[in-house]
Amino acid sequence: MAGSFDIVVIGGGPGGYVAALRAAQLGASTAVVEKDRLGGTCLVRGCIPTKALLQSSELYSLAKAGAPFGLVIDHLGFDWGMAQKRKTAVVDQLVKGVEGLLKAGGVTVVKGDAKLAGKGVVEVSGERLQAKDILIATGSAIARIPLKGAELTIDSDQILELREVPKRLAVIGGGVVGMEFAAMFAALGCKVTVLEMLPQVLPMVDADLVTAYAKHLASLGGEIHTDSKVAEVVKHKGALQVRFSTGAEGGSVDADQVLLAVGRVPYTLGLDAEKAGVKLERGRVVVDAQLRTTAQGVWAVGDVIGGIMLAHIASYEGVCAVENIAGHADRTPDYHAAPNCIYTEPEIAHVGLGEKEAKEKGIEVKIGRFPFAASGRALTLGQSEGFVKVLADAGSGKLLGAHIIGPRATDLIAEATLAIQNGLTLEQIDLTIHAHPTLPESLMEAALAAQGRAIHVANRRSALPARPSPAGAATLPAGAQAKVPVTANVQNREQQMVAPVKPPTTPPSPAVISANSLELNKGNRDFLLGLHRQMQLIRRFEERAQEQYTKAKIGGYCHLNIGEEATVVGGILALKSNDYIFTSYREHGHAIARGVDPKAVMAELFGKETGTSHGRGGSMHMFDQSLRFMGGYGIVGGHLPLAVGGAWAVKYRQEKDVVFCMFGDGATNIGAFHESLNMSKVFDLPVVWFCVNNRYGMGTPVEAASAVADIYKKACAYDMEAIQVDGMNLREVMLRTSEVVEKTRADSQPRFIEALCYRFKGHSVVDPDKYRSNEDKEKFRKADPIVAFEHELEKSGLADEEYFKSVRQEVDAQVRDVVQYADDSPDPKPEDLYKFTYAGEWDDRPELRAEPI
Ligand code: FAD
Repeated sequence: MAGSFDIVVIGGGPGGYVAALRAAQLGASTAVVEKDRLGGTCLVRGCIPTKALLQSSELYSLAKAGAPFGLVIDHLGFDWGMAQKRKTAVVDQLVKGVEGLLKAGGVTVVKGDAKLAGKGVVEVSGERLQAKDILIATGSAIARIPLKGAELTIDSDQILELREVPKRLAVIGGGVVGMEFAAMFAALGCKVTVLEMLPQVLPMVDADLVTAYAKHLASLGGEIHTDSKVAEVVKHKGALQVRFSTGAEGGSVDADQVLLAVGRVPYTLGLDAEKAGVKLERGRVVVDAQLRTTAQGVWAVGDVIGGIMLAHIASYEGVCAVENIAGHADRTPDYHAAPNCIYTEPEIAHVGLGEKEAKEKGIEVKIGRFPFAASGRALTLGQSEGFVKVLADAGSGKLLGAHIIGPRATDLIAEATLAIQNGLTLEQIDLTIHAHPTLPESLMEAALAAQGRAIHVANRRSALPARPSPAGAATLPAGAQAKVPVTANVQNREQQMVAPVKPPTTPPSPAVISANSLELNKGNRDFLLGLHRQMQLIRRFEERAQEQYTKAKIGGYCHLNIGEEATVVGGILALKSNDYIFTSYREHGHAIARGVDPKAVMAELFGKETGTSHGRGGSMHMFDQSLRFMGGYGIVGGHLPLAVGGAWAVKYRQEKDVVFCMFGDGATNIGAFHESLNMSKVFDLPVVWFCVNNRYGMGTPVEAASAVADIYKKACAYDMEAIQVDGMNLREVMLRTSEVVEKTRADSQPRFIEALCYRFKGHSVVDPDKYRSNEDKEKFRKADPIVAFEHELEKSGLADEEYFKSVRQEVDAQVRDVVQYADDSPDPKPEDLYKFTYAGEWDDRPELRAEPI
């Protein structure tokens, strides 16, 4: 069908058909050429069919877990054929819908394969269409890699047409497409194994969200192998086998189907683009800021131009392009608020800046988190896994990023997207009335948490001392406008409660800690150097705390764990984000390792309002509910029974979390220790006892105070699996702890780890430290865990002295800031001294409060 149009769009996907509809609205005579079905990849092979099937798998999971909701199901089965039928019906309905919209909009639809055939001419099956402007929206195609045995694999199109659910599915590629199929099939009872070449699946997602997702997949029996390069796929014993290597080690996975999901590439086959003067670069059509190609009158949008390959981005670009063509606007696409949704179980969605990105760009941010476990709506839904995290500019409070994992995360992201697009602040979000009970309340709470004002979780930190923020306009992303920083002498106490937080210092963990992820090789470099920096930070923090104590800025006692950094970092970073930590009163380093802001920790030691417990815990009690960090308890060993209580709660709720209880050798001679171990064993509680045997007891070397110098043997007496590890060796502590914790997660059996180390300090800062010989002290100092780790890193070529020096300087500056922050922070008001003493319980219940002193 020949004809003449203002605009001819090639490709009827979400980029093309939306552009055509907008062009028609603007009065342009428009045609869209489509060689397959209208709706493109999105409607026919992508977004829609996958989500229709994911709805089936989600429903199945919900029904399986339906008993506590009152569901009585005699036999629950899954009919894949029926789910496929429904998927097809949904797709057909939407494709028809697009046909109807185009017809109603007056857009001419031309069926066939289009190519560019000279200036202003598009040729379709020999027919010529004249166009003033041409818009290329030909999308993308499945990427292929030269993999031995690739012909045995299936791709994302073929997996949608499977006749049955495979018993075992291997997924090569941990991107969005791979992970969505992994989630779908794992929920249907298929044993899923994911193989990803990079250190993290879903590399564009913040590490803490990925860890939470990996945990869920693991609970369904799924496995993720990162840093794993697939070598070949072969036929094996009537099925398939994927062979891969992780570092120097080889591995294999048996599977009935292997999905190859290694990405998509722009599609221009048969378009004769270059002949028409359209420049291509590695297959993608090159466009300028307004979406013009290098050929006059030819524009391009969507997957074919690369960048963010998502349906809503294609549509957005389509609208921008035709508005530019029609001259109604001069639109430059702005991607700073482009949301990304991943329909795994639980769902993941994010928009704007991530933590790592903020750090790399040197933007000082404050972060707020809110767990769905504290959301009324999530609990009524029975879907309380996950959390909302927001990042805002520390100075202006402008929302820069939002990251959600949990129920309907993909819907929840809309509010944050609107806020980021329009430069709204945390305060503007929390001043907006959110209906109750709803999931979006969680975004409001996260916004409040970032300001130290969350209502439904305890706050990690609060009041910003009156100091101008170092984050001025220069640190904001392009397009964002800086507001006046929080000024000095703010009268309103609420307004004072704004704390700038440096990007967290906790290094992102690999989804699974393994010998491979701890190997001293380049692939693990960032992670290992992150661990080293963390140890240095804790060391320097403690050294400075000691100085501050001698200046009488810290009240009561100050207990330091200098020398124990390998046990602290190795032990705590081996845990998952949902695990609980119950620890002793020597916990500043423990809190920092868990991700608590060092500023809030120092402020707590100083007894300031901005501290983790608003200055009420002092040097003894650090607490952060959102990080599941249950800090110290004044009585030696008194927190062991509390850990038993915590583990009971986990067991009772049938969660898969582990309670990690850290204590020193001084706690192992008391009744509470024995009773706690006994009870945990008798009732099969998921607790890992972690004894930091620093050989300093309560002022007595343990070998002098106890008949059994090897403390782990005490646990053997309760028929408990127990090991002893070298607590001066970071990698050993981390690997062994991770193994033990994961075993406990799997079978809910208590286990015991004794980490043999040496603390350089006595019981407290003022301890004269006479009970060790100078030779002993000298000997152990030589085994300094940080120095030992530096030697390992240096020997393997991952870092050198120059690097260590720069880390020391950087950490030194950071800790200087930390002390300054604590110095500048306000004291609690005398009339508020009873506030916050019991996790906020007193706040709303004045009748519980004593008269002010
Ligand atoms: P396409 O949708 O690929 O459309 C291009 C169209 O052009 C096709 O219909 C093609 O037949 C036609 N065409 C190509 N060449 C010619 C020619 N020469 N002549 C005529 N017609 C031609 N994105 C999301 O945002 N959310 C999701 O949940 C999501 N899930 C996905 C799941 C899967 C399994 C896959 C594969 C993709 C998913 N995507 C998702 C990505 C999304 O589908 C694409 O980003 C989106 O479809 C791109 O739109 P487009 O218009 O640029 O290209």
